[in-house]
Amino acid sequence: MSPPPGVSLASRVRKLEVSPTVAMAQRARAMRAKGVRVLDFSVGEPDQPTPARILAAGREAMEAGHTKYAPAAGLPELRAAIVERYREDFGASFAPEQVTVAVGGKQALAVLYLAILDRGSEVVIPTPAWPTFAEAARVAGGKPVFVSLSEKDGFRVSARAVSGAISARTRAIVVNSPSNPTGAVVDPDELVAIARLARRKGIVLLYDDTYAHLVFREGGPPSVAALQEAAGDSLVVVGTVSKSYCMTGWRVGWVIGPRPLAEACAALNSHSVQGPATFAQHAAVVALGGPQDVVRDLAAEYGRRREFVHPAVAALPGVTCAAPDGGFYVFPNLGRYLSKAVPDTVALTTRLLDEKAVALVPGEGFGAPGYARLSFAASLDDLREGVRRLSEFLGALGDGGEGRRR
Ligand code: PMP
Repeated sequence: MSPPPGVSLASRVRKLEVSPTVAMAQRARAMRAKGVRVLDFSVGEPDQPTPARILAAGREAMEAGHTKYAPAAGLPELRAAIVERYREDFGASFAPEQVTVAVGGKQALAVLYLAILDRGSEVVIPTPAWPTFAEAARVAGGKPVFVSLSEKDGFRVSARAVSGAISARTRAIVVNSPSNPTGAVVDPDELVAIARLARRKGIVLLYDDTYAHLVFREGGPPSVAALQEAAGDSLVVVGTVSKSYCMTGWRVGWVIGPRPLAEACAALNSHSVQGPATFAQHAAVVALGGPQDVVRDLAAEYGRRREFVHPAVAALPGVTCAAPDGGFYVFPNLGRYLSKAVPDTVALTTRLLDEKAVALVPGEGFGAPGYARLSFAASLDDLREGVRRLSEFLGALGDGGEGRRR
């Protein structure tokens, strides 16, 4: 982006890459504005509205006058509600003083990085990965170190995969489970092994559990209690109400970690965002503290969609696709459709949008060229039609045979 005359942008911004998800969503929106019916599978948010009970709590909080500053660490009742949810759902025992409330999981990650990274500090990021893990680390002066996971292992991270990437400058290892974009859920034994590794090396295990309530495999997500025991003070959890409660626009998330770290994050927030809107924090207390049937219903709904979408995409000729164990994404390998005319998945997904009005996110931004992310946070009807159009599009691109592999 070229700066206006007289304004010189800092190097951290000049190097910043616009999120590929946002870029694709913008293109889809522009087509929609022209009257085209776009099937948009690029978005990373539930398609359902925020549940009525939570909406009412937000309104009531506003009317009750909760429109003033909240403490920079977050409302005490929200920090208590977060701790209680982790205790009930995952058997973890955190103290409210270990929690700092943030403006969504994104800002939780940003403030955490500011608190732990010096210039040149390294963050080990297994890929495919949500692009913000790397970009936010760079903004904070850090350096992402990528570790490629393999499709044949279902993109599951292992202690062996990350251990080779650790250096004297490493400050954190990222584990995002279920993963955006692959849906992989880390194996519980591997998670404990990574936790032990982090503790031994004295580095942070950054456990992003944004999609923890949307898990489809037997036994659910790995236990945070076991993780906590293995990692000790190395464990830092980044979480959010965004996905589990259909609250992406409310902007409430958190960092949970050792007390001095939580305090450092609150101090940083006191000089920047302060925190989410106070009435949004009150609504989050009700979301986390009330009956959890909305979360269970959402997980069941995504489970049904997954049952359709994963086999349907994996059955497309020449396409392979790891089965997602959680989240709401599938991440098919479209590499066999790349050619001179369609050299990468950015070109492929751009053509898919232009020719079939179907929006996917190319894998390049996730550190996985040749793949694309399809969000199944969309109705089953749209998913059926979307897969049909994708099939038609790929059929026209080529036969999907071995000959097209590059
Ligand atoms: N972590 C992961 C892995 C995500 O996919 C997202 C949202 N795309 C977030 C964190 C942040 O979500 P929010 O800022 O809405 O809480």
